Amino acid sequence: MAIQTLNPYTNQVEQGFEAISNAEIKQAISDSHSAFLEWSNTAIEQRSQLLLNVADLLEKNASHYSALMTKEMGKLFREGVEWEIPNCVDMCRYYANNAAEFLKPQPILDVEQGTAHIESLPMGVIFGVMPWNFPFYQIIRFAVPNLMAGNTVLFKHASNVPQCAIALTELFKDAGFPHGVINNLLMSAYQSELVISDKRVQGVSLTGSERAGSTVAALAGKYLKKVVMELGGNDPFIVLADADVEKAADLALIAKMFNSGEVCTGAKRFIIAAQVYDEFMTLFTQKMAAMKAGDPMNMSTDYAPLVSEKECQSLLEQVHNAVKQGATLVLGGEREPLPGAWLKPTILADVTEKMDVFDRELFGPIAVVYKVSSEQQAIELANNSSYGLSSSIFSRDENKARAIASKLETGVSFINSFTISEPCLPFGGVKHSGFGRELGRAGMDEFVNKKLVRSL
Ligand code: NDP
Repeated sequence: MAIQTLNPYTNQVEQGFEAISNAEIKQAISDSHSAFLEWSNTAIEQRSQLLLNVADLLEKNASHYSALMTKEMGKLFREGVEWEIPNCVDMCRYYANNAAEFLKPQPILDVEQGTAHIESLPMGVIFGVMPWNFPFYQIIRFAVPNLMAGNTVLFKHASNVPQCAIALTELFKDAGFPHGVINNLLMSAYQSELVISDKRVQGVSLTGSERAGSTVAALAGKYLKKVVMELGGNDPFIVLADADVEKAADLALIAKMFNSGEVCTGAKRFIIAAQVYDEFMTLFTQKMAAMKAGDPMNMSTDYAPLVSEKECQSLLEQVHNAVKQGATLVLGGEREPLPGAWLKPTILADVTEKMDVFDRELFGPIAVVYKVSSEQQAIELANNSSYGLSSSIFSRDENKARAIASKLETGVSFINSFTISEPCLPFGGVKHSGFGRELGRAGMDEFVNKKLVRSL
């Protein structure tokens, strides 16, 4: 069965689900559209209150939701209760408290006669296609600004996290959201065209791989729907010669190993100045080697299994292929002797542009480390990628780091930190990492009709 809960820690299928029929999808779109006609006319205070209810329920049931995520995609339970669910709570409260300000009419003061202003009006039913790596965070990040804007939401979650998808729908229902305002479609990827082609659906947002993004963006183009794409990354983590190397190595470990490296903005290419390369490598390798695998439900486990056996095999093959092509395996590159889908923390060095791995997104606990002899070389290497999601620069010279940040072809740059998601910070990529923004005011602006009203 394509839609199922397969526990990556035990490799056991725990539950299967049938995809809903095309008729059921059409009914869900009808319900969503009917709900839109009422929801778009509700007072913003009412929407805020319901969202605050969602935040409270998330807080109350954080352990339950985190355990569900661990069961379906393997993440550390600790990361669920300490990061993912609290972050969802913050997103709900942020938009509940700020949406009224973001949506209020904006006057245009440059007109010579009369008045002009821009209204931010809801568009209709918005369809989200979401990935498994942060099962709660991804849906909340997509849904919440849309709901506050007065849109209604249908989402297709990844087929390996159906119980999370169902729990999310129940969560909004329990918080008091009216029927049809937000709904989960337990459907197959190939049924997406049915949704995207429907005239009542006004926009599409996808977070996922380049392959899925390209297919869904093509469909959105075919049916002329507004689209936001949050795709993969091959994010550079640059450590300059004047950086605090100990701090950089500490944060490199988190940037690489959080969520077992299954993070679009996780650091993937570590670009290190020659002057501090040996020091960084010694510290980073020690830290990576000390990570302990174990039961992801255990609060003291350091890292979790990968999402699936298929992903694990694919990553192992890519590491072995890189070594065959001349890369140096500094650490790892093998499975943990445990039943689930485990790859040991892995470090590759001496990767060159000619190797297959050079421009691939390695979605797991694999760090590729490069030595560079100048800041210019660091910038050129960082930009030598088809992706452009996020980047980090470590330096004690803030002005220099900012100047380098401006030259990096990414949607997001962090100085002396790895990339962190905060509700107020707009997030998104350039190049093959996608287009459009989520979070902050910019995220809310994506699916609203910015309507000009001119009075003369
Ligand atoms: P996929 O692209 O395989 O899946 C993402 C979603 O797209 C799933 O719901 C999937 O459904 C659906 N999907 C896949 N193919 C199609 C299709 N042809 N038509 C319609 N829907 C489709 O990615 P993963 O789930 O493996 O997630 C990992 C990828 O997501 C990585 O590349 C990562 O970088 C990226 N990502 C990007 C983020 C960002 O914000 N930029 C954040 C998180 C992840 P199904 O499961 O049924 O196949």
